[in-house]
Amino acid sequence: MPLSALAMSTPPKTPDAIRGTQDIFGAEAEAFAHVVETFERVRKLYRFRRAEMPVFEKTAVFSRSLGETTDVVSKEMYSFEDRGGESLTLRPEFTAGIARAYLTNGWQQHAPLKLATHGPLFRYERPQKGRYRQFHQINAEILGAGEPQADVELLVMADQLLKELGVADGVSLHLNTLGDAPSREAWRVALIDYFRDHRESLSEDSQERLERNPLRILDSKDPRDKPFTEGAPKIDDYLSDEAQDFFGKVTQGLEAAGVAFARAPALVRGLDYYRHTAFEFVTDRLGAQGTVLGGGRYDGLIETLGGPHTPAVGWAAGIERLAMLVGAGGNVAEGKLDTAIIPLGEAAEKACIALAAALRRFGLVVEMSFRGNMKKRLGRANESGAEYAIIIGDNELAAGKALLRNLNTGVQTAQPITHFGKVPLSLLDGVEFGEPPDPGTNQVFDILTNSGKKDDS
Ligand code: ATP
Ligand code: MG
Repeated sequence: MPLSALAMSTPPKTPDAIRGTQDIFGAEAEAFAHVVETFERVRKLYRFRRAEMPVFEKTAVFSRSLGETTDVVSKEMYSFEDRGGESLTLRPEFTAGIARAYLTNGWQQHAPLKLATHGPLFRYERPQKGRYRQFHQINAEILGAGEPQADVELLVMADQLLKELGVADGVSLHLNTLGDAPSREAWRVALIDYFRDHRESLSEDSQERLERNPLRILDSKDPRDKPFTEGAPKIDDYLSDEAQDFFGKVTQGLEAAGVAFARAPALVRGLDYYRHTAFEFVTDRLGAQGTVLGGGRYDGLIETLGGPHTPAVGWAAGIERLAMLVGAGGNVAEGKLDTAIIPLGEAAEKACIALAAALRRFGLVVEMSFRGNMKKRLGRANESGAEYAIIIGDNELAAGKALLRNLNTGVQTAQPITHFGKVPLSLLDGVEFGEPPDPGTNQVFDILTNSGKKDDS
């Protein structure tokens, strides 16, 4: 059988979505949008400026900065060769791309630069609840600021965001310092010493990381490593005076701002570029995927991309995980309908389109369904919780009027079409506007008849 005949006989199979991606709709999509909108509002309170970066970068942007032994670089990146033979990577996180943009655009002139962004990221992970291959983050960074006040401001903003989202209950801030370069090096040596003694009992991944990057073992999620992370040397015993002083200023700032935190001396982050402050906002309400927001100071990152020494600090939060917390509280619904507009017959359609446009420009949530008889349309309006229906039939059209029906009380009045879109419908509700009863005494009538007219006094 020729191929074309085969193609005709079997109906095409719908391709599946890619594993680990999501199609988000309904209440979940509303919760997702609510997270982004709240972030947008809060970041403006702190004057973080908006930036957009590409979804893909040259692979070196990530491989050089995140650390070769991190999970992300060693096994999670979506890297591919484009048609020109260049190795590109779908961004697995924001910070490296932001640092690249900071350097290639000369954004140093704006330092200290407070930046906010959000969007999709890609990691080849094992998909499960709260862990996807395409996921989304909101992200905030301060570039070109070495002061602990920058760390404090970012943490206070994160804390306010979680409170305004209504998810702060049961989410706690775990805070650590990784010290400066000398402190970190001394700690690293001590960790290697310690873990060497337990080498045989560690997971294969951790055995491999032992000499090169023992801090990674502290972040391991493998249960075989857990018993040994507890007793591992703590950074506090290796902190230089300078690093201690820096961390002290961060914790004092948080206390001044009234942001609660718990010291987590074994906390390290999943990427290697962090120095000094490192933190996570953690909850036990999302099962295994309990980290909703994480970040820290990354003073060495910009140098790995060939830039000058540039201190910087930032955080990122998973939108899906925040949306799950928001959704669990049940506090985001799809927008409520104010008014349904119902044309009866073809002639009324045009008047209704004009009416709907006028009411929406006035700021009301209006829907005019595309089909159905009066009964069906009224039924739908009632179901959607609308407060009013406005009905125009042939008789109303001829008289230049529309029927305003209160769907809760059933009270219905005829109104001149010109009344709509000027005052709230509640002011028209139940009132018959004939001739002005006593010109000058009815304020609503004055607004309705005078609006749009020139003041000729
Ligand atoms: P985890 O320890 O959960 O793997 P991480 O340390 O890899 O997180 P970061 O790279 O710091 O996470 O990203 C910050 C936030 O982004 C996380 O706290 C989480 O809310 C979210 N996040 C990270 N990876 C995923 C993913 N694969 N799916 C959904 N959200 C994610
Ligand atoms: Mg991870």
